Amino acid sequence: MPDGKKKKMDKIVSLCKRRGFIFQSSEIYGGIGGFWDYGPLGVELKRNIKDVWWRDMVTGHDDTSTPVGAATPYEMVGIDASIVMHPQVWKASGHYDLFHDMLVDCRTCKARFRADQIPTSPCSRKPSKHPGEHTDCDLTEPREFNLMFKTFIGALIDPTAEAYLRPETAQGIFVNFKNVLSTARVKLPFGIAQIGKAFRNEITPRNYTFRSREFEQMEIEFFCSPDSSQGWYDYWCARRFTWYTSLGLKSERLRLRDHAASERAHYSCGTADIEYAFPFLAEGEFGELEGVSHRGDFDLRSHMEGKLVRDGDILKVELDEHGRASHAGSGKDLSYFDDATQTKFIPHVIEPSAGVDRAMLAFLCEAYTEDAIPDDKGVPQERVVLKLHPRIAPVKVAVFPLIKKDGMPEIAGEIYRELKLKWNVSYDQKGSIGRRYRRQDESGTPFCITVDHQTLIDGTVTLRDRNTTVQERVNSANLVSLIEERL
Ligand code: ATP
Repeated sequence: MPDGKKKKMDKIVSLCKRRGFIFQSSEIYGGIGGFWDYGPLGVELKRNIKDVWWRDMVTGHDDTSTPVGAATPYEMVGIDASIVMHPQVWKASGHYDLFHDMLVDCRTCKARFRADQIPTSPCSRKPSKHPGEHTDCDLTEPREFNLMFKTFIGALIDPTAEAYLRPETAQGIFVNFKNVLSTARVKLPFGIAQIGKAFRNEITPRNYTFRSREFEQMEIEFFCSPDSSQGWYDYWCARRFTWYTSLGLKSERLRLRDHAASERAHYSCGTADIEYAFPFLAEGEFGELEGVSHRGDFDLRSHMEGKLVRDGDILKVELDEHGRASHAGSGKDLSYFDDATQTKFIPHVIEPSAGVDRAMLAFLCEAYTEDAIPDDKGVPQERVVLKLHPRIAPVKVAVFPLIKKDGMPEIAGEIYRELKLKWNVSYDQKGSIGRRYRRQDESGTPFCITVDHQTLIDGTVTLRDRNTTVQERVNSANLVSLIEERL
């Protein structure tokens, strides 16, 4: 990683610790690799990202509108499935057999690397940069390693009690397809959304929260007829890309990359990744924020018939040596009857699958800004400011009394309580006013309100904008509507 980029990443990590966005998990015991805790500001930011996603994709979605490039209006509903599911789910879906990484161990330094990441993984033996480059490096052949966390259900610790923590939230949606269809009165095309934890025993968790072992996903399974699926795939690629730009990611650091056919899973008819140029990556490299995949009827069919494999152009049930399905499906009918055409078919699926933690990291990296602003005497002072989009900013407004007397704390307290009915608002009366502004700038708070001597005379307060630092005098009676307008 170039020095400048490393420095920027180090500064972001240190700000996240200092301001209480992200802590190492179990830090007082020395930490645990691949697990992270979100502090008071981090939990707000993360919650806002999830809420905004849910609002934009599910509850706020207008199902009477006809999206560009697609012929029919559609509905969106949500579910919240359990983390531990029937082990057969993972066998039919293919995860049990296929969710592997190829690993390479170094017999000299005992480090373990993903075979596909050897060219970018750091090697601990100087001056070698990557594993295998030093004469001491003694790498094994690539070996398979299952990424699913295993657990046991009930008191017995034997193979009949084995279960897995879900490595993705998607399967919880597929196995509930029929339940949703028969209870929510939805008709094709429609989407089911879910936000929840997923677990992967990543070999080399790294790049801060980018590759964790426990993380959250925001996934949509969008069900449609086979003949409309390509149009919906294009629609979702565009819709999800714009979601990130609408929340402040600059399009020059974001890209939608189509997978080459050789890179796609065997069942996929099309996959594109939405990628961001994270500062921890080398120049020109991008990291995946979200995958949008056209999965055909693979998932519903797998849960009907059993684990599918590709044979030339067709997907067929994998058979064992006795000619039975190697991993049986549920045997339930997950097809759809279309009233309009009087036809029965297995719906096709478009899956936009996003990571909450990666989105949060991208928003933090994009928002991190260093600039200089003049102090009271006009001397430029360096500051760090998180220019987070107001919709996701952890705290929307901070309220300060200029000094702790003359009735200012009482008036500021009243304003604080009034605004708190609507937003997450912070009250601060400690330290110089400049220092209080700095604290809020580093937390990404879009607006600061200060009650001062003038307030006592005419009821006006100053309203300071985080990005421009411009302060204007406004009537304290109009604060709610004014801030509402600007947020
Ligand atoms: P990668 O190639 O980076 O391992 P993936 O292609 O396996 O990712 P998907 O299975 O498509 O990822 O998962 C969907 C989304 O879940 C990803 O785009 C990412 O945002 C998030 N995600 C996946 N693995 C992790 C992880 N280990 N830590 C944090 N987020 C993750």
